[in-house]
Amino acid sequence: MTHKTYDAIVIGGGIIGVSSAYQLSRRGLRVAILEKGPHVASGSTGQSSAVVRQRYANIEVVQLAYASLQMFQNWCERLELKEDRSGFSPAGVVWLSDTASADCAEAVRQFERVGAAGGVVDVNELQDRYPSLNFCDSALDMTGIAHDCRNQPTVFWEPEGGFADPQGTTEDLLQAAINKTVDLFVRHEVTRIEPAAGGGFRAVQCSNGEVFSCNALLNASGPWCQRINEMVGVTLPMNLQPTRVQIAQRDRPSDVVGEIPVFVSAADQIYARPEANGQQFIVGSVAAEDESEAVDDPDNFNADASQEFRDQMMHKLHHRFAMRSRGTVRGYAALYTVNTDDWHPIIDAVGPQGFFVANGFSGHGFKLGPSIGCLIGRMMTGVGLPDDPAVDVRYFGADRKPLTSSSGVLA
Ligand SMILES: Cc1cc2nc3c(=O)[nH]c(=O)nc-3n(C[C@H](O)[C@H](O)[C@H](O)COP(=O)(O)OP(=O)(O)OC[C@H]3O[C@@H](n4cnc5c(N)ncnc54)[C@H](O)[C@@H]3O)c2cc1C
Repeated sequence: MTHKTYDAIVIGGGIIGVSSAYQLSRRGLRVAILEKGPHVASGSTGQSSAVVRQRYANIEVVQLAYASLQMFQNWCERLELKEDRSGFSPAGVVWLSDTASADCAEAVRQFERVGAAGGVVDVNELQDRYPSLNFCDSALDMTGIAHDCRNQPTVFWEPEGGFADPQGTTEDLLQAAINKTVDLFVRHEVTRIEPAAGGGFRAVQCSNGEVFSCNALLNASGPWCQRINEMVGVTLPMNLQPTRVQIAQRDRPSDVVGEIPVFVSAADQIYARPEANGQQFIVGSVAAEDESEAVDDPDNFNADASQEFRDQMMHKLHHRFAMRSRGTVRGYAALYTVNTDDWHPIIDAVGPQGFFVANGFSGHGFKLGPSIGCLIGRMMTGVGLPDDPAVDVRYFGADRKPLTSSSGVLA
């Protein structure tokens, strides 16, 4: 076995690890990505709904989400690629929630400040574009009692938001990284880390016996992050919990006509978007109780969606789109790492000199991934680039107080 040496090693080939490796290579570092799976995006990223929205409670996150959107809009140019496999679709994001709320007024202000397109619009303006979507603002009764739909007059709309293909997006970032100075090693599970006396790492050992060394090491291992942190004796001050979340899917019937947006319904506590070139729906929950199933072993959890979950999601989807038949409902479950203290990641230098973490992205990591890579590249090298988002990475520091917003809700 040869002993390979790099400037930096990234543990994990999800969107965070690959985007960070790309940004490190743009700053002149030779980088290895060590991925335990057979391909990139084999963890949370590949199972992501990959919604690209910009509405968030805090301006820093809105800025990052908008910076990612701008990358998606100019994908090949920004990544210097000939072919776009990101699958980014600007289907629009409709927020079926109370537009008179303080949260909505704050969202309008934040979009104006960052220059993002979006705001409160009359539903009549959207009905031509999304003719099958029901803009009702009251929740469907799940006991089957008859429901009178009541259209809300206005919604918050992000015309440029949408969704992407998480696998293709990560592969494109990888290609851009490989085109610079990044090597990918799949089926390389890191099992032991030995720091060097003067800083850096003399041994990053993999389960296949290969050993690497480097000056800087990034833990971007998603739901497995605690295992890597334990290898270097790091205990983070916030609780990062691998969490099981479920998704339901069904084919789109012919009676649903016209374009389908991404939508979030506060009343029904669901979000949904089109998939498979618009021929399918995927539906997830935004209810807090559906993001609370802690998983101890990320290698061993139930990857099926329960019948009860599928039934509930379909019932609610049928409230949003009138469909004559229930169709065949499929589903799956996957993991993401919830920071139970404030739902946002920890990105920082911690523990031995040269060790960095980027963990706990909860349900936001896909859309933030392209821009977060810039923050991590800058944090690990001290080199800023003109297209870096103007957000200070210390916002996500390990020693922060849990983030809050004016409404107290972070989502
Ligand atoms: C069902 C679902 C829906 C989602 N919807 C959205 C959404 O709509 N929008 C959004 O922005 N986000 C969404 N997310 C969240 C988003 O997908 C995650 O936050 C993001 O993918 C996290 O990326 P990551 O790179 O940190 O982790 P991962 O993608 O999990 O990558 C970590 C990688 O590290 C590897 N690894 C682990 N341990 C080791 C080791 N010891 N050695 C080597 N490699 C290792 C793993 O194999 C894995 O590939 C969703 C997630 C899920 C599951």
